Amino acid sequence: MTKKRVLVKFSGEALAGVNGYGIDTQILHFISGEIKALIDGNIEVAVVIGGGNIIRGVTAAADGVIKRTSGDYMGMLATAINGIALQEAFEHNGMDARLVSAIDMQEIGEPFIIRRAKRHLEKGRVVVFAGGTGNPYFTTDTAATLRASEIGAEMIIKATKVDGVYDKDPNKFDDAVKLNSLSYDDALSEHIKVMDDTSIALAKDNGLPIIVCNMFEKGNLLEIVNGNRELCSIVE
Ligand code: UDP
Repeated sequence: MTKKRVLVKFSGEALAGVNGYGIDTQILHFISGEIKALIDGNIEVAVVIGGGNIIRGVTAAADGVIKRTSGDYMGMLATAINGIALQEAFEHNGMDARLVSAIDMQEIGEPFIIRRAKRHLEKGRVVVFAGGTGNPYFTTDTAATLRASEIGAEMIIKATKVDGVYDKDPNKFDDAVKLNSLSYDDALSEHIKVMDDTSIALAKDNGLPIIVCNMFEKGNLLEIVNGNRELCSIVE
């Protein structure tokens, strides 16, 4: 029987904790526990990590001193910092992990070679993808869709602070309604921002379901991968 293979996307901000910046090691530890539950459940897991807790290209380039492209490379390097931290946390929790970078940095992570990445997954290693797509003007959400498609993951889990997608901002509106299931076109509509449009369009092209869930509820990831659709929203 072939194993389930999933890709989990964590934003850099998720790692920052209450500080809003940098890396909170207790959050790293929590995340690694959640991923370990998947590995122990015989699921193959790849992770894409963002960099927004350190720097984002758009912000870095806001006043024009730094070019957008350079700001974006700074953002991609930020994901590598987070990737090293995640790899450490996974190893600390007794898992095998491999950091794979879209930008060459052989002392830190290996280059992305599809067959090699798949082999790591088959051996039960957590593959941490850093460096985004390796190109400016993209996001790590798009990197998540790209890598998930390349490695043949059956879903992308967008791990967030909320338990799904709402018709309006649940922090602002008491009558916001959670949408358990929505189409790619719904997700591309103006008022719902699950992920950026490029990543949703790529997921649509490849028929890759996007699951949005709250990563801070212990045990959620495993339950969702095992089919519990109450705890999340699904875009498909
Ligand atoms: N980035 C990029 N190309 C990519 C992925 C990321 O240029 O393929 C840059 C971009 O500047 C982005 C930053 O890296 O703002 C950090 O990534 P992202 O904002 O996606 O991180 P997250 O919001 O998930 O923490």
